[in-house]
Amino acid sequence: MLITGGKVYTKNGFKPLDIRTKDGKIEALAKRLSAEEGEEVFDALGKTILPGAVDVHTHFDLDVGFAHANDDFYTGTVAAACGGTTTIVDHPGFGPDGCGLMHQIDLYHTLAEGKAVIDYGFHGVLQRVDDGILNELEKLKEHGISSVKIYMTYSGKLSDDEILRVLERARALGMLVAVHCENNDIVEHLKTEYIKQGKTGPEYHPLSRPPMAEAEAVNRVLSLGRTAGDAPLYLVHVSTGLSLEYIDFFRRGGYENFFVESCPQYLFLDETLYKKPDGLKYILSPPLRAKENNNLLMQALRLGEIDTLGTDHCPFNYAHDKQFGKDNFTKCPNGMPGVETRYPLLISLALEGKIDFNTVVKTCAENPAKLFGLFPQKGRIAEGADADLVVVDESARGKIAHKNLHENCDYTPFEAMGTRGEIAAVFSRGEKIVENNQFVGEKGRGQYIKRSTFQPL
Ligand SMILES: [Zn+2]
Repeated sequence: MLITGGKVYTKNGFKPLDIRTKDGKIEALAKRLSAEEGEEVFDALGKTILPGAVDVHTHFDLDVGFAHANDDFYTGTVAAACGGTTTIVDHPGFGPDGCGLMHQIDLYHTLAEGKAVIDYGFHGVLQRVDDGILNELEKLKEHGISSVKIYMTYSGKLSDDEILRVLERARALGMLVAVHCENNDIVEHLKTEYIKQGKTGPEYHPLSRPPMAEAEAVNRVLSLGRTAGDAPLYLVHVSTGLSLEYIDFFRRGGYENFFVESCPQYLFLDETLYKKPDGLKYILSPPLRAKENNNLLMQALRLGEIDTLGTDHCPFNYAHDKQFGKDNFTKCPNGMPGVETRYPLLISLALEGKIDFNTVVKTCAENPAKLFGLFPQKGRIAEGADADLVVVDESARGKIAHKNLHENCDYTPFEAMGTRGEIAAVFSRGEKIVENNQFVGEKGRGQYIKRSTFQPL
């Protein structure tokens, strides 16, 4: 395949280059390449070509007991592809009590195989800690899983002592520990109080999980990370300015080995949505915050203080699943769709001049690829890298609309947001899989990626 005439994002900025792909890789990048006999040519004249995006925070097929995330590995990866994401690393849910670390990985292989349409990997998930579990971390790494997730809230939460033990072992193995930071006691205390007082509406969801609950846990886990010899840490879905202050404190103190993720919902949406009649749509954790946090996060993004943007894609239908919370917000399944809208929303910000394209590509592709052991195969446009490419028509203007999305959910939280630019085509390993907002690839073409050790930024 030869892709001609595009303005191509390279490590030296945008360049007018032709791209030749062969056996799934970028074979040549040069000013003028002429088609060889029988070579298929894709005309990208006037278009911009970005690296395929990498989303390291999805929850496909997540089972939370009373509800099940609507996107499986087929619909979820089709939606991802249509939104310019060509690699995902999924966070498996908790397994049965007492299960080993491979239990959920084995299960998730069966969920993804034959279904995923883009390349994929899994994070490990820890829901308890003992010597056996710690010894299994090495096995996980051999299986190509170089990161694990821990929670400071929910049923599988770890104590500080357990977290320290995980961090010490992970550091020795060169594994990255992703952490959901919320103080469980603050959240449980406030939830109980609100429900007792009959305050059951969705507007009490953010009040029950205040910024302090997140920031305290951020501060605590970074303190534990320093104690464990500056263990590599990755803070998922940071949502508040208060957390950024603690993050800044630790960075100024010389802790370099930790990384920060936020998500588009925390940049674009705020807590006033919980007061709307359909407020249940926006129940996720951490919750949407007061508007000033959007600006603080946007500023941090611009300054390079946010390393990655994930989506935390976890779709529950409003008409059915979200209604579990209609008389009690604590019973509403937590999560929103977003895997398809991240790159378009961020590309739009760049075209509006609010952030630069470097920030978009770094946070949505290059940095997640580096941190999660996918680089240099993924996350960049260069000879030898996988030919994962997103062709963007910068001149298009539109609006995010649920009816145009492929996510298997009955709403998008970003409905009617104006966008600049439009994804015209997507290539995965040199194969055109999206054109004109249609998935044109084959079900199950995605490959499991054995990830290598994380690479600091
Ligand atoms: Zn999540």
